[in-house]
Amino acid sequence: MSIKELVEISRFYGKDSGFLLAGGGNTSFKDESYIYVKASGFKLASIEEDGFVKLDRNALNQIWKKKYPVDVGLREKQALQDLMNSRASGETKRPSVESLLHAILPQKYVVHTHPAMVNGLTCSKNGRYIAEQLFHTRCIWVPSVNPGYILAKVIKTQLVEHKKKYRLLPDIILLENHGMFVGAETIREIKNIHDFIIGTLKKQIVYEPDFSSVQVSKVEIEKIYNRIKNYPVFKDVYITFENNIEISAAVKDSASFQKVRYPYIPDHLVYAGPEMLFIEDLNNIEQDIDQYRERNECYPKVIAVKMTGVFTLGDKEESSHITMLLFLDALKIAVYTESFGGYKFMDKEQIDFIKNWKVEEFRTMVNLTK
Ligand SMILES: [Zn+2]
Repeated sequence: MSIKELVEISRFYGKDSGFLLAGGGNTSFKDESYIYVKASGFKLASIEEDGFVKLDRNALNQIWKKKYPVDVGLREKQALQDLMNSRASGETKRPSVESLLHAILPQKYVVHTHPAMVNGLTCSKNGRYIAEQLFHTRCIWVPSVNPGYILAKVIKTQLVEHKKKYRLLPDIILLENHGMFVGAETIREIKNIHDFIIGTLKKQIVYEPDFSSVQVSKVEIEKIYNRIKNYPVFKDVYITFENNIEISAAVKDSASFQKVRYPYIPDHLVYAGPEMLFIEDLNNIEQDIDQYRERNECYPKVIAVKMTGVFTLGDKEESSHITMLLFLDALKIAVYTESFGGYKFMDKEQIDFIKNWKVEEFRTMVNLTK
């Protein structure tokens, strides 16, 4: 019965774009001996019972007794290997690296999402202070650290300290520049806690993002579209264009665009790139892209053009749409941060770690599943 409820709550938040985009997020349910965590490659919105991996909780606990190498790459590789080895016999699916985090939370049901409004708080200068004021002992604030093993370890220590200090366990975990985890004994409670968080934050929002459409000149868009397509390697890319009240304000000039120039959360980095390019003068578009490549060692996925709007690029039509979704998410977050003391991007160190880590994780997985 409980796996059925896990499926129900997973689909509920997976289908709600206010909570999750682009197949992100994950959920879990635990009984005495096992934890069932969303497997990689499955989307919460359409997940079935077979979309979860069964892991042995006792085997997972052994991870905390082990001593891992100091070397970051080796440590993550070994911890990942132990995570894979904790799968119940016969399991072939791949658990998310966030599984460790699901496992250390004591509640039966755990839901992890990236709501723009919550990230307005987690990506703000005063986020931590305001979170403590609003949610008191129900919540812990987790500073930006390397994802995977280290993140789970930091939270594990924080949980122990929180319990010692307040004699209770938090049911809201806010991750700086990332999102939140909510834990409860029933899915009814899970929904209540989410409603409480969103309701509480709504009261603090002084300015909601305005995504109403604005007039655009088709001729002008077509012109820029062709300029981008003329850049040598962009011949086969798919391009999505968008403009609205909020975008118009952001592309007014370089200073206004600053609030969306860098990623707020890992998903922005993965789907929209390490920097969003702002083109001041169309005559320089090729040089601007060249310089972007030098700075970032990749091509821009988001190109904003002054006084015009935003273009997103992808190797498929769907990927250019997803990039646009994540750009719009970053813009929403930027607007929400105005209610919490102003924006704060992911720090450079985290960006570099995730860039390398994704590659490393992929390599490890290929080796393990050979
Ligand atoms: Zn996440």
